[in-house]
Amino acid sequence: MFKVAIVGAGSAVFSLRIISDFTKITEFKDVEIYLMDIDETRLNSTFILANKLNEEMGSKLKFKTTTNLEEAIDGAMFVINTAMAGGHDYLEKVRKIGEKWGYYRGIDTQEFNMVSDYYTISNFNQLDLFLKVARLVEEKGEKGAWLLQAANPVFEGTTLILRNVSINMVGFCHGHYGIHYLAETIGLEMNKVDWQVAGVNHGIWLNRFLYNGKNAYEILDEWIKNNVYEPRHPFDDQLSKVAIDMYKFYGQMPIGDTVRNSSWKYHYNLETKKKWYGKFGGADSEIGWKWYQDNLKAITETINKLAYFVSQNSNIKLLDYNLYKDYLNIEIFKEEIERIIDTEKLSGEQHVPFIDSIVNNKRQRFVVNILNNGVIEGIDNDVAVEIPAWVDSSGIHSEEITPKLSERVIKYYLRPRIMRMELASEAFLSGDIKLLKEILFRDPRTKSEEQVEGVLNEIMNLPENEKMRKHYIL
Ligand code: NAD
Repeated sequence: MFKVAIVGAGSAVFSLRIISDFTKITEFKDVEIYLMDIDETRLNSTFILANKLNEEMGSKLKFKTTTNLEEAIDGAMFVINTAMAGGHDYLEKVRKIGEKWGYYRGIDTQEFNMVSDYYTISNFNQLDLFLKVARLVEEKGEKGAWLLQAANPVFEGTTLILRNVSINMVGFCHGHYGIHYLAETIGLEMNKVDWQVAGVNHGIWLNRFLYNGKNAYEILDEWIKNNVYEPRHPFDDQLSKVAIDMYKFYGQMPIGDTVRNSSWKYHYNLETKKKWYGKFGGADSEIGWKWYQDNLKAITETINKLAYFVSQNSNIKLLDYNLYKDYLNIEIFKEEIERIIDTEKLSGEQHVPFIDSIVNNKRQRFVVNILNNGVIEGIDNDVAVEIPAWVDSSGIHSEEITPKLSERVIKYYLRPRIMRMELASEAFLSGDIKLLKEILFRDPRTKSEEQVEGVLNEIMNLPENEKMRKHYIL
């Protein structure tokens, strides 16, 4: 038996995916899981549903809830961090201030970092929380404890923590599943595809793509010649015009959220976004992000209602949603719940299978964020890269990246993205405001020094940014 802590466990869909995975791996029947969050309502909903799932799946997982971070991490062998300091409300508040000062989609929307909840400049509280969690893992965790980073920004967070805190740590993202989508759409059977991706989080590229041992890029090229892709929803961009345009420029296909993280060419305004990403303008347009947030809100509300319903009807079966689907509008997360209650399939999140590999010495392949240490040529050793690796109880073993990433991917995509990570990380560590300003001086939307001063002042004067203000200014 060992202890796991989920920090930010009120993120119910994510927590239920993780918990359902624990219930489905037979060796994990009696793990102790501490659910930690500062929001007691959300925490309680996760707790009710977790216990119900546990009971119906016949597992003996033990759940505890706490609002105390230290208590959660004390003695834990694995800590999963999915917390977002300030939540989506903070992100929107800061985005609004940015737009007022002439920064379309906010100051944290940057070249090669357009993802709308991936703040690096104004996200002091989130980075501060990352370090706090990591240091607690070092001080209070079980000997050799692991931190599994799910919360964004995974790239900045993984680099920052692995450079500054001596713990076992890995960052996870599900962006690489874009390869499954890509392969299936162009008519390939996934089990015959030999693939590799490499890069940094939200900046990964398909360096190896073989089908039955032959170059599958030729099949992709043929598909591109004969098809025009229309997105079915804002996140449906893996084969969008922008993905193909990036492929033509960089010589390799961008995978997953990399398609969102393109240059300004595709993001000047909504019209440009629509031209490249289709009618919704992509996930990070004002239309696409609103769609995502409305969905998240509806899911959170439905989960709270479902938890209440379960607490009032003890004979209800979570595994049979026909019993409650008419009472609740579960259409919004039907696919989610189907997967969570599917006893045969895991959720697709890598965290619990990773723990399984470490604890039970099951050698499995993952896509991980770890320090480069020579795996990708042309990138510093102490930068967190996202690469395929094999994991067993002796740890993480990176694959050799072959063939290499294209020269354009390294020179014109990864290096500029890494430079931005370095500026944001050094600013955060040193408290030197000049570094934050420098990021904005290099921003094509900046027209004057007053604009830079104005937007940073207004963001730092938000009540929740008192610590940030003191760090940078006093
Ligand atoms: P959310 O706001 O819905 O949930 C985050 C939870 O964190 C909330 O329950 C909140 O109360 C809690 N929280 C905030 N501050 C806390 C603190 N100090 N201590 C403990 N808990 C705290 O956000 P979300 O949409 O679920 O996203 C969560 C994070 O996961 C974000 O950073 C997002 O970017 C990231 N994310 C990562 C991936 C991935 O594959 N790596 C995918 C989707 C989202």
